[in-house]
Order: sequence, then structure tokens, then C-alpha cells
Amino acid sequence: MPHFYLDTENNGHKNFELPGAKPHYNPDRPGQVEHIFLDLSLDIPNQICCGVCHIRLLPIRDGIERLILDAVNLNIQSVEVDGALEKFAYDGEKLAIQLTQPTKIGHRLLIAIAYSVQKPQRGIYFIQPDKYYPEKPIQVWTQGEDEDSRFWFPCFDYPGQLSTSEIRVRIAKPLIAISNGELINTIEDGASRIYHWSQHQVHPTYLMTLAVSDFGVVEDKWAGKPVNYYVEKGREADAQRSMGKTPRMLAYLSEKYGCPYVFPKYAQVCVDDFIFGGMENTSATLLTDRCLLDERAVLDNRNTESLVVHELAHQWFGNLVVIKHWSHAWIKEGMASYSEVMWTENEYGSQDAAYYRLLEARSYLSEDSSRYRRPMVTHVYREAIELYDRHIYEKGSCVYHMIRTELGDELFWKAIQTFVQDNAHQTVETIDLLRAIEKATGRNLAFLFDQYVYRGGHPDFKVSYSWDGEAKLAKVTVTQTQANGEKDGLGASFNLRIPIGFGYSQQSKELKTFIVRVNEKEQSFYFPLGEKPDFISFDVGNNYLKTVSLEYPVPELKAQLQFDPNPISRIYAAEALAKKGALEAIKALSSALKNDPFWGVRVEVARQLAEIKLDQVFEVLVVGLEDPSPFVRKAVIQSLAQIKTHASYKAVKGFVQNGDPSYYVEAAACKTVGVIASANLEDKPQEDKVLKLLKSVLEERAGWNEVVRSGAIAGLAEFKNSEAALNLLLEYTKLGVSRPLRLSAIRALGKISVGQSAANIEHILDRLAEMAKETFFLTQVAVLTALGQMETPKAISILQSLAHQTADGRVRRYAEEEIVKVQKNIGPEKTLRQLREELNQLKQQNQELKSRLENLEAKSEGVGCRV
Ligand SMILES: [Zn+2]
Repeated sequence: MPHFYLDTENNGHKNFELPGAKPHYNPDRPGQVEHIFLDLSLDIPNQICCGVCHIRLLPIRDGIERLILDAVNLNIQSVEVDGALEKFAYDGEKLAIQLTQPTKIGHRLLIAIAYSVQKPQRGIYFIQPDKYYPEKPIQVWTQGEDEDSRFWFPCFDYPGQLSTSEIRVRIAKPLIAISNGELINTIEDGASRIYHWSQHQVHPTYLMTLAVSDFGVVEDKWAGKPVNYYVEKGREADAQRSMGKTPRMLAYLSEKYGCPYVFPKYAQVCVDDFIFGGMENTSATLLTDRCLLDERAVLDNRNTESLVVHELAHQWFGNLVVIKHWSHAWIKEGMASYSEVMWTENEYGSQDAAYYRLLEARSYLSEDSSRYRRPMVTHVYREAIELYDRHIYEKGSCVYHMIRTELGDELFWKAIQTFVQDNAHQTVETIDLLRAIEKATGRNLAFLFDQYVYRGGHPDFKVSYSWDGEAKLAKVTVTQTQANGEKDGLGASFNLRIPIGFGYSQQSKELKTFIVRVNEKEQSFYFPLGEKPDFISFDVGNNYLKTVSLEYPVPELKAQLQFDPNPISRIYAAEALAKKGALEAIKALSSALKNDPFWGVRVEVARQLAEIKLDQVFEVLVVGLEDPSPFVRKAVIQSLAQIKTHASYKAVKGFVQNGDPSYYVEAAACKTVGVIASANLEDKPQEDKVLKLLKSVLEERAGWNEVVRSGAIAGLAEFKNSEAALNLLLEYTKLGVSRPLRLSAIRALGKISVGQSAANIEHILDRLAEMAKETFFLTQVAVLTALGQMETPKAISILQSLAHQTADGRVRRYAEEEIVKVQKNIGPEKTLRQLREELNQLKQQNQELKSRLENLEAKSEGVGCRV
């Protein structure tokens, strides 16, 4: 495998485009597809779907003699047009129909294709019990996005074609079938039943769906329309707990988007082995059954709620207003991700929403720095599925928020409503959003789209501040560290109007705010103020997508951490303080950990404390174990993993032994005891005792989505020199082990491999090579995640064969990215990393000395000194 894209970096960032990437366009249209009718029969034991696909096409011009449809790995039995058999050619990917009568404008063609598909690899999935998993339910479900509908029916498979649709399906009793639109008929026929669904609103092929099983159903309603939740029987209470807010979300989004939900019903179907979190098929969303929450999980799992609102938002953004081409997918994915922020604001308040947005921004930022940088809109790729990354989801959400910031709430919603109303039942491109904004508000936001949508990247700000007491002037210097003086492209400066605020802790919560234009690599601004402010707040509200590093004096940072009304500003202040180190910073962070009213800030403060390498951190941090918020307790436990002492081990071990109300807290504790106990402690706990503790968790704590036991697996993976830990892990990679637990164990093989003997590494490679042959998407991803952490060239060849064999574009791309990682692991960077590890050990030894010194200095300078 060549060293592709290691040497094709742009401005220090890797390229998105892999070798073989090329421009993609929608095909020429022979006409408008008006209606698709699938008349199907399912033979589940034999994994066969067969029937007739009827397509009604209105030609766009005269004289077309050949129609080309997408159809992959289907058996095409016959093709009729207007009732007469026609000649066709089929190469396994494209179906070419030769028309005896060339097309005439206005004369509709009725195409009927008789076909079947057996043991399909994509598009339609047959789930059944087997000898390893006898409890598995019988299910059939489909997944069309992006270009997989062609694996289960012949079609013009691109989102630019919108049509009405109808699915009739014969299945064995007592199974039921859910599909798009409304159920217009069911027919009993001996041992089978025929379900007939019909959708009157136009939509693209990728949103057509079918889900079949002996589902249990929870029935709800909104505005007279059925809102049903379908789950495996016995999980109805979980369904209500997990999806029960849907009617309120329907009301909320209908109002915000200025258009009541248009489809005749909204069904959510939870299916087994789903390869995504959720899929917004028109009026029949499919969700992974892993999103179903039990009584304990609901305590600190908001992911399900976010998933539910995300897929629902697509019913407007994606399904009612359809993207014309995948390159504009950010329009729908960005808004669906932004609906998570909006719903969080509606449900939990503005601080939670601000924090949610920060986490989204970070998610994008980490992809940008570690994977690649790209414009949000691009039509150059290998497979459309590659576009479904954090650039279009999380960055897309941040862009919608910046549009809202630019316009203000009232105009933002007016613009969004105009966009939805003007484009309902039609296809859109990015330009249509800009036009709707201009139409509704008069504002031209092209400058924002140019900088954040059509170009990759974001500004990296460094902000410093000083006060001139004599002139009563505040000086703020803003540097864009990403800029290199170029006028265009990735090295250009961003041009934005940013509010800078000054806070007075003694007076009000109101900041004294000035808006300045930031548009150069480095600019200094001077603000005449009546009196010295206690703190300054850059980008008040933190509405712009950016990174920021604050270079303020310690007193200003402390005041900001305590008094800035915006939680994200307080978090940035905590980060900057932690960088200063020293006891003064610990004191301020300690107080925030105890007193900040918002859990998100306390979480971040706990993380930042762990960055300060002084012994005094421990006693400050353990206090957070008592925090009422499970999110904070989890963060504290994760931070304690950085403090590798016996006291730290003891503090966390209690959570493994005695438990916690939260699954996630227990899981974090299991991992942390592994991290601490496997480190080079002087008085470290005996390895066999710790392994025994983790083993007991694996034996006794099976439960919801195997969160806790997966934590124990992660703890075991830390014992890189232990054969006993490895053998225990291997046990849990066997078929028959519950799926989420097995996936965790497979992933952990990578981490634990690093310190193992040559023979054990061979053993791990053999095991991974064997499992790489399994076709399930999540297993393949777990295998390649493990391989990517290994430090042997042999991992590369397994990754290569995985990339060649897989039917999944995402797996192919990940495999190629992991190959680059392994090359790094075994290349010159390995030596560098080893040196760094040695350095870290030295630093740790040095820490004790430094900590003592800090105490001495504190004593000599008196309490409350400033550094
Ligand atoms: Zn989505």
C-alpha cells in the first residue's frame, strides 16, 4: 500500500480526497419518475426478497431509446414497458432497458421489472437467530442512504429524483411490516399476510424503507396522527422511556420550522444489528435497538433523546426539503444536528445547549486536526458515504448557529421558515439556503458561507489583554494563528465581527460589550473604560466556531472562571488557568469544581485539574467524587486515572466494588483502576488482585448495553504486559458473547497487544484475521480499530485484505486510514513516542519535588499570593 496522503498534506492538514476520488454529478434525466410501486414477497428463512418493481416515468424529451437504472446484484427476470416485454442488458450494476418505442413527451412509460435478490449484502438485511445467538429476533430491515436502495430494488438511485411510493409485501404471520406513508390495506392469506403501504408525498429512493418483525408496539399520537414506537416484544416500557418525548418534539419542530409535520404518521422502529444510529426514512425512522434505555441508563444518557430529535428533524430537513446531491448533505445533517442543540435548549436550558454546542465543535475540531480538513460542500470523493463525517454534522450545526447569531433569533427563524416553505417537496442546494435567507431578511450571508462552508477550517485565536491604569485603556490583542498572510485559501485570515466584553464582578451580570471587526493576522484594540474591569470575555456568547487560547493574567482568568455568565467562557478560563499550573490555579479550579452552578463547567474543571502535574491536585479532585451530577463523577474518575497513586486507586476502587447509580460512572471506574494499577507505582496493588476484581465485574455485572462490563474490558486492556489479562480478553471475543461486550473485547485487543510477547502478538493477529472475515459492519470496524493500534507490519496486511473484501465504503476508508496509523506506529515516530514515554516518567518523578517546592513557596509568600 503506498504512503498515500501522508505526503499530500494541505497547510498541515491531511487531504480528504483519497486516491481514486473524482467529481460526482447527478446523471442526465430521461424524465421525471412519478411513482414507484414495489410488490414484494419475503422468504425470510432463505433470505429472499422477490417481486415486481413498477416505475411510472414521464419522459422529458422525445427519442430516448435506452433507460439506464441502478440495480446491484439483483436477479432480473423480465422487463415490461406498457405491458409488452422489452429487451434488456444487465451487468450486475446497471440495468439497460432497450425501448421498442422511443420516448415521446407527454406519453408516460409504465415499467415493470420482475426481479429477486437472495442473501443480499447491502440494502436489505435479514436478521435471524443462529447457533451462537439463539435469542436473536427475526427481522428484516432496509437501509437506502446513500446509494444502497439499488441493492434491493431497481431504481434511478440519486436524490434528485422525487416520486410518490408504494410498497406491498407478503410476509409470514405473525410478523408485521412498517413502511413509508399510510397503511392502506392488509390482506390475510392463509399463513401469510400482505401489508400495503402508500406514500402520497414525493421523496427520493434513499428514503424508501421496509421493516419487518413480530414487533411490540407503543401507540401515541400528535395532532391526530399516529406516533408509534415499534420494538422487540417485552421492551415497550423502554420504548416509552426512550421515545416518549416524540409528540412534544413534533409540536416544537413544527412551530420552529414554520410548517406542521406533513406526513400521515410518524413511526420509529428499533431494529437489531442496525449499522447506523438511526435513519430518517420518510415517516418511518429506523433506530438501533441499542438506543433503548432502561431505568438506570436514562439517568445520564441524553444520546437517545438527541438521536430521536435528530431523525425527526430530518422529516423536514432531508425528507420534505430534499438535497439535490450528496455534496449538499450538510444542509440536512447540519440542521438535524443543530436540532439537538435547539432541543437541549428547550428541555434543559441555555447553559446545557451552549455546552452541547461546544462538544459538537470539539468533535469537528478533532476530525479537522487528526483526520483531514475539507470544505463542507464538495463533490469530489470516492464514495458518497465518505461525506457523512463530522464536517457536515457537527460543523454544519455550528454553522447554523452562526447564521442564527448573525441574524438574531427572530430573523433566523423567519429565514428557516421561508426556506422550508419555499422548497417543500423539492430539491435544494446550498445556494437555495442563502437565497431564502436573503429573501426573508435582506441579509447576504455569502461572506459567512465563503469562510465556513465553501472553504475548510476555522480561525484559531490567541487573545491577550493588558490594562493601562493611567490612560484607563484596556488593550486586547487578537492573533489568528492559522493565518499566514495569504489572501485566500486555508492560510487566509477570517473576517468576522466579534463582540468583546468587559465584566465587573461586583456590579451586575451584564458585560460592557463592544463589537470589533477581526480580519487580520494580528490586531490590537483599545477600549477606554471608566474603571479597570475584573475580566474580559472574547466572543461574548461564544457563538463563532473557533479555537481560542487566552493569555490573560491569572487574576482576570480567576474572575472570569467565577463570574462570566457564559459557561463556555468559564471553561476557556479554566483551560487557561490550568496551563499556568501552580497552586493559585489549583485553588481557583478547586473552588469552581465545588461551586460552579453548571455541571458542564464542573466536568471540564475536573478534566483541567488532571492536566496540572502537582500532587496537591489529588485532594482537590477527590472531593468531586461526591458531586450530585453523574457526568461530573465520571469526569473526576477519568481524571483520577492521570494520578497514578495508591490513594487514587483506593478512591476509585470503591466505585467498582460498591457501584454508582450511573452505569457510565461504574464503567469509568473499571477502566481507571486498570490504568492506575498497570502503571509503574512504587506501592502498586498486586496485579492478580486487580485482575480478579475486573474479572468479577465481567462475571457478575451483565447489564444495559454492556456498558459496565465494557468498562472492565477497557481496564483489562491496560495490562499490556499481562498474559492473564490477554487470555481473559480473548475469551470475550468468542462468538456467543453478547454483541456489545464482544465488540469492546475485540477493540481492546489492539491496546493490550503493544507489550505482549511475540507469540502472543501472533495469536492476537490470527484471532483478528479470523474475525475480519465476519461481514457485520460493527465487527469489521472493531477489528480495524484494534489493528490500527498495533505496532507490527503484519497488521497492515490484514487491514489491506479487509479493505479489499468489505462491502462497506466506510470500512474501506477507515481501513486505509488505519494502515497509515500502523505505518506511523512502526516508523520513526515509534522511537519518538518511546522517548516521550521516558520523558513522562522523568516528569512524574520530578512532580513530587515540584509539588513540595510549590508548598514551600506558598508558605513563604503567605496565603493568597498571586503568581
Ligand atoms: Zn442525520
